[in-house]
Amino acid sequence: MSAFNPVDRLRRSARITIALYRISQAMNYLLRERGKVCGLSPAQIQTLLFLRYARPGVRTIGGLAERLGVSYATASGVADALEHKQLLQRIPSASDQRIVTLALTEQGERESVALEDVLDEVENVVAALSDADQEALVRATQSIIRHLQARGYVKVYEMCWGCQFFRRNAHPDDPRGPHHCAYIDAPLPEQNTYLECPDFTPVESEGA
Ligand code: SF4
Repeated sequence: MSAFNPVDRLRRSARITIALYRISQAMNYLLRERGKVCGLSPAQIQTLLFLRYARPGVRTIGGLAERLGVSYATASGVADALEHKQLLQRIPSASDQRIVTLALTEQGERESVALEDVLDEVENVVAALSDADQEALVRATQSIIRHLQARGYVKVYEMCWGCQFFRRNAHPDDPRGPHHCAYIDAPLPEQNTYLECPDFTPVESEGA
């Protein structure tokens, strides 16, 4: 049984699997084509967007390697290339020089903003579907992603709202931030709650 076998696509599940495969191919194509225009590889594009939206603690080579699903050495190479293009900078921690944070340069910020619409064409097609179809797609794709995530095939990055470790307004007068993350046991400034986090864990009711 193989979704790649056209005969097997008489099964609905095989048709859907191949449809998802084609959508991922289209997204990769859009990344590659945009990359040709702006002189960036798909991995470099994903890195710029990662640094734009990842929560501060994961903006490291290790965090990037995890996000791209590549080795530490490969992630370091991607960072080197972007550094060479003056889109990224490595910033050693003031307290511990062994800890190095990755940050966008001003030019990198501008480039990352320009890249934000790279998947808009796909979203426009989705937005044209009926509300009922979109609702069904959200439910179905979330269910598929949860399963793939549990098998370790994909890592989900989401913002704090909806995470079971998020404690909203836990200490409203704390100058470090009014909210709290029970996972890293640290205060969260409001703006950081809208960034992507690899440790996001949906509240039980959403995952049930
Ligand atoms: S673990 Fe949850 S609450 Fe903590 S930073 Fe990540 S998303 Fe936010």
